[in-house]
Amino acid sequence: MTGFSTCGAVTKASRSVATEQLRQTIMGLCAFPTRHTLSGARGVDAAADWLARRFQSFGGNLRVEKDTWLEPKGQRVDKPTNISNVYAKITGSRHPNHWVVISGHYDSRVTDVMDATSIAPGANDDASGVAVTLEAARVLAKSKPEIGIIFAALTGEEQGLLGAKHLAENLAAKGETVVAMATYDIVGNSMGADGRKRTNYIRIFSGGDTPGETTVSATRRRTTGLDADSPSRTLARSLADVAKRYIRGFHTEIVYRQDRFGRGGDHSPFHAAGVAAVRFTEPNEDWTHQHQDLRVDAGIDYGDKPEYVDFDYLTKVASLAAAWVADVSHAPLPPTGVTLVTDLAPVTTLKWRPNPDAIGYEVLVRLSTKAEWEKTIPIGKQSTVEAKLPFSKDDYVFGVRAVGKNGARSIAVIAGR
Ligand SMILES: [Zn+2]
Repeated sequence: MTGFSTCGAVTKASRSVATEQLRQTIMGLCAFPTRHTLSGARGVDAAADWLARRFQSFGGNLRVEKDTWLEPKGQRVDKPTNISNVYAKITGSRHPNHWVVISGHYDSRVTDVMDATSIAPGANDDASGVAVTLEAARVLAKSKPEIGIIFAALTGEEQGLLGAKHLAENLAAKGETVVAMATYDIVGNSMGADGRKRTNYIRIFSGGDTPGETTVSATRRRTTGLDADSPSRTLARSLADVAKRYIRGFHTEIVYRQDRFGRGGDHSPFHAAGVAAVRFTEPNEDWTHQHQDLRVDAGIDYGDKPEYVDFDYLTKVASLAAAWVADVSHAPLPPTGVTLVTDLAPVTTLKWRPNPDAIGYEVLVRLSTKAEWEKTIPIGKQSTVEAKLPFSKDDYVFGVRAVGKNGARSIAVIAGR
């Protein structure tokens, strides 16, 4: 059969992204002297209120929520402190308890992680990720997705991923399901520490382990060689595929690593809870503009200032963000019961359960050694729940995804895991 069409909501969202909106969010956040998590009323708390008002100004179907809790004394929190995440949410029309989460962290820091008073613009780390999150919210504000969306401006990342842990725990405690989570952190600078500018891709980091997997599934994973197909890595591949389908001249590089060396991010508490969660970060970081006291030293201008953000690059990053959030949230839930028949045959047979929201399915195929899907094979109708494929199951990995009547694609599910 011929392929399924693309999704109008995805195209519209990605094309509506506006550079000026991204600039306004970053300049607005950088106007606070610091957004250090412990900076109180004139710093981080004022920034939270500003973010809530900005989310509110986008109107549409967004419900804005400021989520405040008392964070106890901890390694990087010197005394119990009230801190806040700021969310805009759209509840899913078909699946009110399923969510897609996109985040950036609005707290900032300088060289000393406990310094709550020095000027800390945090333009790239991570006003850039917050700007991407807000822009995705703005362009999708009027949409009515099947799966809900949480646009999250998180706090306390630099003090130990506090806001992300809080959100992940709260969603789990309420029994809500997170279909996909991605954090945008350090996504706006295209000029690397090596002096090379890279403007046509972004990295996606994903953990290769599968926290919480059962002994049975761990054994199956080892014996079938699906070690490179954890839920988070499968999400990374699905998002890389969105870039190929919708964003011209911009791609992703999947990194087989949960994060950069010695660094952490807000996707990690979600990944640790068994949620498919990834991190987006620019190709080539420049550490003179991260976590630095503002100063000039030996001719080097240190500090995370807005003049080091490449807004044209950030616009491409935000276009991809709007595209994948639209695609996954407008799609049916991922297929269930995806199995691979382990017969001694030169063809591969896959089976899955019918998905009432799908008009059909796509089988994704790649050699076991390839990072990204190589082939997309459209499969019949909603009631077609089996595919025979002319590829050796010994050499290839297979995924199945559901296609909605609007052309949106679900996250893929790996066959045989
Ligand atoms: Zn950061």
